[in-house]
Amino acid sequence: MSGPPPVGREALFWQEAGRGRVRCTLCPHLCVIAEGAEGLCKARGVRDGRLQALTYAHPATIISDEIEKKPLYHFYPGTRALSLGSFGCNVLCSGCQNWQISHANARTDTTRLALLTPSDAVAMARKHKLSGVVFTYNDPVVWIEYVHDVCAQFKEAGLYTAFITASYVTQEALDYVAPVIDAFKFDLKAASADGWAWLSKVKDPAPALAMTIRAKEVHGCHVEVVSNIVPGMNDDDASLTAMATWVHDNLGAKTPWHVTRFLPDFELSYIPATPIRVLERGVTLGHAAGLSFVYVGNVPDHPGRNTVCPGCGRTVIVRGERAETLRIREGLCSTCGESLGLVAAWD
Ligand code: SF4
Repeated sequence: MSGPPPVGREALFWQEAGRGRVRCTLCPHLCVIAEGAEGLCKARGVRDGRLQALTYAHPATIISDEIEKKPLYHFYPGTRALSLGSFGCNVLCSGCQNWQISHANARTDTTRLALLTPSDAVAMARKHKLSGVVFTYNDPVVWIEYVHDVCAQFKEAGLYTAFITASYVTQEALDYVAPVIDAFKFDLKAASADGWAWLSKVKDPAPALAMTIRAKEVHGCHVEVVSNIVPGMNDDDASLTAMATWVHDNLGAKTPWHVTRFLPDFELSYIPATPIRVLERGVTLGHAAGLSFVYVGNVPDHPGRNTVCPGCGRTVIVRGERAETLRIREGLCSTCGESLGLVAAWD
Protein backbone atom coordinates (compact mmCIF):
# COMPACT_ATOMS: atom_id res chain seq x y z
CA MET A 1 0.00 0.00 0.00
CA SER A 2 1.50 3.36 -0.96
CA GLY A 3 0.81 6.65 0.77
CA PRO A 4 2.33 9.72 2.30
CA PRO A 5 5.01 9.43 4.97
CA PRO A 6 3.66 9.68 8.51
CA VAL A 7 3.33 13.16 9.90
CA GLY A 8 1.47 12.09 13.04
CA ARG A 9 0.39 14.57 15.67
CA GLU A 10 1.55 15.51 19.12
CA ALA A 11 1.10 12.61 21.52
CA LEU A 12 -0.74 12.46 24.81
CA PHE A 13 0.82 10.79 27.86
CA TRP A 14 4.35 12.13 28.22
CA GLN A 15 6.45 14.39 30.42
CA GLU A 16 9.82 16.12 30.13
CA ALA A 17 12.65 13.98 31.52
CA GLY A 18 15.53 16.49 31.49
CA ARG A 19 18.41 17.13 29.07
CA GLY A 20 15.98 17.40 26.15
CA ARG A 21 14.58 13.93 26.72
CA VAL A 22 10.95 12.87 27.13
CA ARG A 23 9.38 10.08 29.20
CA CYS A 24 6.44 8.38 27.48
CA THR A 25 3.78 7.34 30.01
CA LEU A 26 1.48 5.51 27.63
CA CYS A 27 2.61 2.02 28.63
CA PRO A 28 4.55 0.56 31.59
CA HIS A 29 7.81 0.46 29.62
CA LEU A 30 7.96 4.21 30.43
CA CYS A 31 10.59 4.80 27.72
CA VAL A 32 12.89 7.79 28.15
CA ILE A 33 13.44 9.02 24.60
CA ALA A 34 16.08 11.42 23.26
CA GLU A 35 15.51 14.07 20.60
CA GLY A 36 15.07 12.49 17.16
CA ALA A 37 14.70 8.96 18.55
CA GLU A 38 11.74 6.61 19.00
CA GLY A 39 10.57 4.52 21.93
CA LEU A 40 10.69 0.73 22.09
CA CYS A 41 7.46 0.49 20.08
CA LYS A 42 8.85 2.63 17.19
CA ALA A 43 5.48 4.38 16.87
CA ARG A 44 6.23 7.30 19.19
CA GLY A 45 9.21 9.61 18.84
CA VAL A 46 10.59 12.94 20.06
CA ARG A 47 10.63 15.79 17.55
CA ASP A 48 11.52 19.36 18.58
CA GLY A 49 11.38 18.40 22.24
CA ARG A 50 7.84 17.01 22.13
CA LEU A 51 6.51 13.44 21.87
CA GLN A 52 4.79 12.66 18.59
CA ALA A 53 2.31 9.89 17.79
CA LEU A 54 4.04 9.05 14.49
CA THR A 55 1.34 6.82 13.00
CA TYR A 56 -1.75 8.91 13.81
CA ALA A 57 -4.24 8.40 10.91
CA HIS A 58 -1.73 6.23 9.03
CA PRO A 59 -2.85 2.59 8.90
CA ALA A 60 -0.68 -0.04 7.25
CA THR A 61 -3.58 -2.50 7.01
CA ILE A 62 -7.21 -1.71 6.13
CA ILE A 63 -9.40 -4.81 5.76
CA SER A 64 -13.04 -5.83 6.07
CA ASP A 65 -13.11 -8.93 8.26
CA GLU A 66 -15.46 -11.19 10.20
CA ILE A 67 -15.59 -10.42 13.91
CA GLU A 68 -14.94 -14.14 14.57
CA LYS A 69 -11.44 -13.79 13.13
CA LYS A 70 -10.28 -11.48 15.94
CA PRO A 71 -11.39 -13.80 17.66
CA LEU A 72 -14.50 -12.38 19.32
CA TYR A 73 -17.19 -15.08 19.52
CA HIS A 74 -19.73 -13.54 21.91
CA PHE A 75 -19.84 -10.08 20.34
CA TYR A 76 -22.13 -9.37 17.39
CA PRO A 77 -21.68 -12.89 15.92
CA GLY A 78 -21.76 -13.10 12.14
CA THR A 79 -20.97 -9.44 11.52
CA ARG A 80 -18.10 -7.83 9.62
CA ALA A 81 -15.95 -4.94 10.79
CA LEU A 82 -13.38 -2.54 9.42
CA SER A 83 -10.04 -3.87 10.72
CA LEU A 84 -7.17 -1.41 11.13
CA GLY A 85 -3.53 -1.86 12.11
CA SER A 86 -0.33 0.10 11.73
CA PHE A 87 3.40 0.08 12.40
CA GLY A 88 4.98 -0.54 15.77
CA CYS A 89 4.09 -2.50 18.89
CA ASN A 90 4.93 -2.36 22.57
CA VAL A 91 4.89 -6.12 23.26
CA LEU A 92 7.18 -7.40 20.46
CA CYS A 93 6.20 -11.07 20.52
CA SER A 94 8.79 -13.55 19.25
CA GLY A 95 6.17 -15.52 17.32
CA CYS A 96 4.18 -12.55 15.98
CA GLN A 97 2.22 -13.40 12.84
CA ASN A 98 2.00 -9.72 11.87
CA TRP A 99 5.70 -8.95 12.35
CA GLN A 100 5.92 -7.21 8.97
CA ILE A 101 4.00 -4.27 10.43
CA SER A 102 4.25 -4.70 14.20
CA HIS A 103 8.05 -4.71 14.11
CA ALA A 104 8.28 -2.00 11.43
CA ASN A 105 9.63 1.46 12.13
CA ALA A 106 7.37 4.44 11.53
CA ARG A 107 10.36 6.63 10.71
CA THR A 108 12.23 4.53 8.18
CA ASP A 109 9.64 2.33 6.50
CA THR A 110 6.71 4.51 5.49
CA THR A 111 5.84 3.52 1.95
CA ARG A 112 3.17 1.04 3.06
CA LEU A 113 1.22 3.56 5.15
CA ALA A 114 -2.07 5.06 3.99
CA LEU A 115 -3.90 8.16 5.20
CA LEU A 116 -7.32 7.55 6.78
CA THR A 117 -8.90 10.23 8.96
CA PRO A 118 -11.45 9.18 11.61
CA SER A 119 -14.34 10.52 9.52
CA ASP A 120 -12.97 8.71 6.43
CA ALA A 121 -12.95 5.48 8.46
CA VAL A 122 -16.62 5.87 9.37
CA ALA A 123 -17.51 6.67 5.75
CA MET A 124 -15.62 3.57 4.59
CA ALA A 125 -17.47 1.37 7.07
CA ARG A 126 -20.83 2.79 5.99
CA LYS A 127 -20.05 2.40 2.30
CA HIS A 128 -19.20 -1.28 2.76
CA LYS A 129 -22.06 -1.93 5.22
CA LEU A 130 -19.74 -2.89 8.08
CA SER A 131 -21.00 -3.07 11.65
CA GLY A 132 -18.03 -1.54 13.45
CA VAL A 133 -14.29 -1.06 13.70
CA VAL A 134 -11.62 -3.34 15.20
CA PHE A 135 -8.07 -2.25 16.03
CA THR A 136 -5.88 -5.29 15.51
CA TYR A 137 -2.66 -6.64 13.86
CA ASN A 138 -0.39 -4.43 16.00
CA ASP A 139 -1.24 -3.50 19.59
CA PRO A 140 -3.64 -0.53 19.42
CA VAL A 141 -2.07 0.95 22.54
CA VAL A 142 0.74 2.48 20.48
CA TRP A 143 -1.57 4.72 18.40
CA ILE A 144 -4.09 5.31 21.14
CA GLU A 145 -4.94 8.89 20.14
CA TYR A 146 -6.12 7.71 16.71
CA VAL A 147 -7.92 4.70 18.18
CA HIS A 148 -9.77 7.03 20.54
CA ASP A 149 -10.78 9.49 17.82
CA VAL A 150 -11.92 6.79 15.39
CA CYS A 151 -13.85 4.88 18.05
CA ALA A 152 -15.58 8.03 19.31
CA GLN A 153 -16.85 8.71 15.78
CA PHE A 154 -17.95 5.10 15.27
CA LYS A 155 -19.95 5.16 18.48
CA GLU A 156 -21.56 8.46 17.47
CA ALA A 157 -22.54 6.75 14.21
CA GLY A 158 -24.13 3.83 16.12
CA LEU A 159 -21.42 1.33 15.14
CA TYR A 160 -19.41 -0.91 17.48
CA THR A 161 -15.74 -0.69 18.46
CA ALA A 162 -13.23 -3.37 19.49
CA PHE A 163 -9.67 -3.35 20.83
CA ILE A 164 -7.40 -6.41 20.33
CA THR A 165 -4.59 -6.04 22.83
CA ALA A 166 -2.05 -7.39 25.30
CA SER A 167 -3.37 -4.67 27.61
CA TYR A 168 0.11 -3.41 28.47
CA VAL A 169 -1.04 0.15 29.09
CA THR A 170 -0.99 2.60 31.98
CA GLN A 171 -4.20 3.23 33.90
CA GLU A 172 -4.30 6.87 32.78
CA ALA A 173 -4.21 5.80 29.13
CA LEU A 174 -6.71 2.98 29.58
CA ASP A 175 -9.13 5.38 31.24
CA TYR A 176 -8.79 7.70 28.24
CA VAL A 177 -9.65 5.12 25.58
CA ALA A 178 -11.89 2.56 27.32
CA PRO A 179 -15.03 4.75 27.42
CA VAL A 180 -15.21 4.48 23.61
CA ILE A 181 -14.38 0.74 23.46
CA ASP A 182 -17.18 -1.85 23.40
CA ALA A 183 -15.15 -5.08 23.20
CA PHE A 184 -11.72 -5.83 24.59
CA LYS A 185 -9.87 -8.98 23.53
CA PHE A 186 -6.98 -9.71 25.86
CA ASP A 187 -3.96 -11.86 24.95
CA LEU A 188 -3.14 -13.85 28.08
CA LYS A 189 0.25 -14.98 26.88
CA ALA A 190 1.42 -17.29 29.63
CA ALA A 191 0.78 -18.43 33.18
CA SER A 192 4.05 -17.02 34.56
CA ALA A 193 6.10 -13.83 34.37
CA ASP A 194 8.96 -15.86 32.83
CA GLY A 195 6.60 -17.05 30.09
CA TRP A 196 5.48 -13.51 29.33
CA ALA A 197 9.08 -12.29 29.18
CA TRP A 198 10.14 -15.12 26.87
CA LEU A 199 7.19 -14.68 24.50
CA SER A 200 6.68 -10.93 24.49
CA LYS A 201 9.60 -9.06 26.15
CA VAL A 202 7.13 -7.93 28.87
CA LYS A 203 8.93 -8.75 32.11
CA ASP A 204 6.05 -8.09 34.49
CA PRO A 205 2.54 -8.94 33.26
CA ALA A 206 0.86 -7.57 36.40
CA PRO A 207 -0.13 -4.23 34.78
CA ALA A 208 -1.64 -6.05 31.78
CA LEU A 209 -3.70 -8.32 34.02
CA ALA A 210 -4.85 -5.40 36.17
CA MET A 211 -5.87 -3.24 33.19
CA THR A 212 -7.90 -6.10 31.67
CA ILE A 213 -9.86 -6.47 34.89
CA ARG A 214 -10.31 -2.70 34.98
CA ALA A 215 -11.61 -2.64 31.38
CA LYS A 216 -14.37 -5.00 32.44
CA GLU A 217 -15.10 -3.90 36.00
CA VAL A 218 -14.74 -0.12 35.72
CA HIS A 219 -15.49 0.52 32.05
CA GLY A 220 -17.97 -2.26 31.34
CA CYS A 221 -16.20 -3.55 28.23
CA HIS A 222 -17.17 -6.97 26.90
CA VAL A 223 -13.97 -9.02 27.46
CA GLU A 224 -12.78 -12.21 25.76
CA VAL A 225 -9.39 -13.83 26.37
CA VAL A 226 -7.03 -15.62 23.98
CA SER A 227 -4.07 -17.80 24.90
CA ASN A 228 -1.86 -18.87 22.02
CA ILE A 229 -0.60 -22.30 23.05
CA VAL A 230 3.09 -22.65 22.17
CA PRO A 231 4.61 -26.16 22.38
CA GLY A 232 7.10 -26.44 25.21
CA MET A 233 6.16 -23.05 26.64
CA ASN A 234 2.59 -22.91 27.95
CA ASP A 235 1.10 -26.22 26.75
CA ASP A 236 1.47 -28.32 29.91
CA ASP A 237 -1.53 -29.10 32.11
CA ALA A 238 -0.35 -26.84 34.95
CA SER A 239 0.00 -23.81 32.64
CA LEU A 240 -3.34 -24.40 30.92
CA THR A 241 -5.09 -24.79 34.25
CA ALA A 242 -3.41 -21.70 35.70
CA MET A 243 -4.45 -19.54 32.75
CA ALA A 244 -8.03 -20.83 32.81
CA THR A 245 -8.23 -20.28 36.56
CA TRP A 246 -7.01 -16.70 36.18
CA VAL A 247 -9.77 -16.02 33.62
CA HIS A 248 -12.41 -17.65 35.81
CA ASP A 249 -11.39 -15.97 39.06
CA ASN A 250 -10.81 -12.48 37.66
CA LEU A 251 -13.23 -12.10 34.77
CA GLY A 252 -15.99 -14.59 35.52
CA ALA A 253 -17.12 -18.07 34.54
CA LYS A 254 -18.88 -16.88 31.36
CA THR A 255 -15.86 -15.09 29.92
CA PRO A 256 -14.95 -16.79 26.62
CA TRP A 257 -11.43 -18.27 26.63
CA HIS A 258 -9.90 -19.15 23.25
CA VAL A 259 -7.03 -21.67 23.22
CA THR A 260 -5.50 -21.01 19.84
CA ARG A 261 -3.10 -23.01 17.74
CA PHE A 262 0.42 -21.62 17.51
CA LEU A 263 1.72 -21.61 13.93
CA PRO A 264 5.48 -21.25 13.38
CA ASP A 265 6.48 -17.73 12.33
CA PHE A 266 9.12 -15.02 12.75
CA GLU A 267 11.65 -15.77 15.55
CA LEU A 268 9.78 -18.95 16.56
CA SER A 269 9.79 -20.54 13.10
CA TYR A 270 11.71 -23.50 14.54
CA ILE A 271 8.81 -24.53 16.84
CA PRO A 272 6.19 -26.86 15.30
CA ALA A 273 2.48 -26.04 15.22
CA THR A 274 0.51 -26.97 18.33
CA PRO A 275 -0.97 -30.48 18.11
CA ILE A 276 -4.76 -30.27 18.03
CA ARG A 277 -5.06 -32.76 20.91
CA VAL A 278 -3.25 -30.20 23.13
CA LEU A 279 -5.89 -27.57 22.30
CA GLU A 280 -8.64 -30.08 23.05
CA ARG A 281 -6.93 -30.81 26.38
CA GLY A 282 -6.99 -27.04 27.04
CA VAL A 283 -10.76 -27.05 26.47
CA THR A 284 -11.18 -29.91 28.97
CA LEU A 285 -9.01 -28.17 31.57
CA GLY A 286 -10.76 -24.83 30.99
CA HIS A 287 -14.13 -26.43 31.69
CA ALA A 288 -12.65 -28.17 34.75
CA ALA A 289 -11.53 -24.75 36.01
CA GLY A 290 -15.17 -23.61 35.85
CA LEU A 291 -15.30 -21.75 32.52
CA SER A 292 -18.50 -22.12 30.50
CA PHE A 293 -17.13 -21.14 27.09
CA VAL A 294 -13.74 -22.48 25.96
CA TYR A 295 -12.93 -22.53 22.25
CA VAL A 296 -10.40 -24.16 19.95
CA GLY A 297 -8.87 -21.42 17.78
CA ASN A 298 -6.87 -21.32 14.53
CA VAL A 299 -8.22 -24.72 13.43
CA PRO A 300 -10.73 -24.31 10.57
CA ASP A 301 -13.85 -26.46 10.82
CA HIS A 302 -13.06 -27.78 14.31
CA PRO A 303 -16.31 -28.35 16.25
CA GLY A 304 -14.64 -26.67 19.23
CA ARG A 305 -15.41 -23.36 17.49
CA ASN A 306 -19.16 -23.76 18.14
CA THR A 307 -20.99 -22.33 21.16
CA VAL A 308 -22.76 -24.87 23.35
CA CYS A 309 -25.28 -23.72 25.95
CA PRO A 310 -23.88 -24.54 29.41
CA GLY A 311 -27.45 -24.98 30.68
CA CYS A 312 -28.92 -27.60 28.33
CA GLY A 313 -25.95 -28.70 26.21
CA ARG A 314 -27.48 -27.70 22.88
CA THR A 315 -25.40 -26.00 20.21
CA VAL A 316 -26.53 -22.36 19.93
CA ILE A 317 -23.98 -20.89 17.51
CA VAL A 318 -22.39 -22.84 14.65
CA ARG A 319 -19.23 -21.39 13.16
CA GLY A 320 -18.64 -22.70 9.68
CA GLU A 321 -17.72 -20.34 6.88
CA ARG A 322 -19.67 -17.78 8.83
CA ALA A 323 -21.33 -17.79 12.23
CA GLU A 324 -24.95 -18.87 12.36
CA THR A 325 -26.98 -18.33 15.53
CA LEU A 326 -29.56 -20.98 16.46
CA ARG A 327 -31.82 -21.24 19.46
CA ILE A 328 -31.05 -17.77 20.84
CA ARG A 329 -33.63 -15.24 21.95
CA GLU A 330 -32.44 -11.84 23.16
CA GLY A 331 -29.08 -13.25 24.22
CA LEU A 332 -30.54 -16.23 26.09
CA CYS A 333 -30.74 -19.87 25.10
CA SER A 334 -34.26 -20.23 23.71
CA THR A 335 -34.41 -23.84 24.92
CA CYS A 336 -33.55 -23.41 28.60
CA GLY A 337 -33.24 -19.63 29.17
CA GLU A 338 -29.56 -19.74 30.18
CA SER A 339 -27.63 -16.47 29.77
CA LEU A 340 -24.94 -16.90 27.13
CA GLY A 341 -22.90 -13.76 27.84
CA LEU A 342 -23.56 -12.45 24.33
CA VAL A 343 -23.46 -8.84 23.16
CA ALA A 344 -25.37 -8.12 19.98
CA ALA A 345 -28.05 -5.97 18.42
CA TRP A 346 -30.75 -7.26 20.79
CA ASP A 347 -29.00 -5.56 23.79
S1 SF4 B 1 4.10 3.36 24.15
FE1 SF4 B 1 6.06 3.01 23.08
S2 SF4 B 1 7.33 4.78 23.52
FE2 SF4 B 1 5.63 4.79 24.99
S3 SF4 B 1 6.44 3.74 26.82
FE3 SF4 B 1 5.41 2.18 25.57
S4 SF4 B 1 6.99 1.30 24.23
FE4 SF4 B 1 7.81 3.20 25.08
